[in-house]
Amino acid sequence: MKTTKIEWTEATWNPSVGCTKVSAGCKNCYAEVMARRLQAMGAHGYENGFEFCILPERLKQPCLIKKPTIFFVNSMSDLFHENMTFDFLDKLFKIIIETPQHHYQILTKREKKLKRYFATRDVPNNVWLGVTVENADVKDRIDVLREINASIRFLSIEPLIGDVGILDLTDIHWVIVGGESGANARKMDPTWLHNVQCQCEAQNVAFFFKQWGTWGSDGKKRNKHANGKEINGKIYQSYPNAVMV
Ligand code: SF4
Repeated sequence: MKTTKIEWTEATWNPSVGCTKVSAGCKNCYAEVMARRLQAMGAHGYENGFEFCILPERLKQPCLIKKPTIFFVNSMSDLFHENMTFDFLDKLFKIIIETPQHHYQILTKREKKLKRYFATRDVPNNVWLGVTVENADVKDRIDVLREINASIRFLSIEPLIGDVGILDLTDIHWVIVGGESGANARKMDPTWLHNVQCQCEAQNVAFFFKQWGTWGSDGKKRNKHANGKEINGKIYQSYPNAVMV
């Protein structure tokens, strides 16, 4: 059952919340805006706003759901944040192994810690591992991801804020692309998008276009829903072969 508005997943699971900015893609972080709102509402976990915080009481949440579900882990944080402990990650991956009916999408901008963690551990089969690549400056994250033995490796090219140039998509199974939304959104040049789409087609990688965001395909600023998610009148929202949503 879909319980989140995030297009490319079914549900979210946030055993930690809060974060700190690491690269240009973080500038208008949606999680930060949400955290400040939740803090104002007095929501648990957000007492210190966007400060990183581990919430052990949420660990068992996926165990309560029997229906196979695709979870995006930490829509409100980065699982490999500097203050995340390997001890807590061990507990979290134990839950993941104990719930094989689910798939878990884990996305990070902290590829070095991701690599360090999995240097001595196996990635469970029901985990999809991804890195964010918002522009060419952080393409090294892809090479680090490729070194980790995961059944599904993916890239989130969102918000696409610069031309990523040539992409080596060897051993990458899925690419998500999206333009930025919000009042201060940076413009996504349609040629950057088409560059990624063409390379996914040429290298036979599943391509998922999430949205244009605040700036439409015509370069005009408007509501993101009005700008839609079509490229030349077509929707491109493929998933990796192993799973069909
Ligand atoms: S890594 Fe993700 S959650 Fe953390 S600040 Fe950047 S965009 Fe926000």
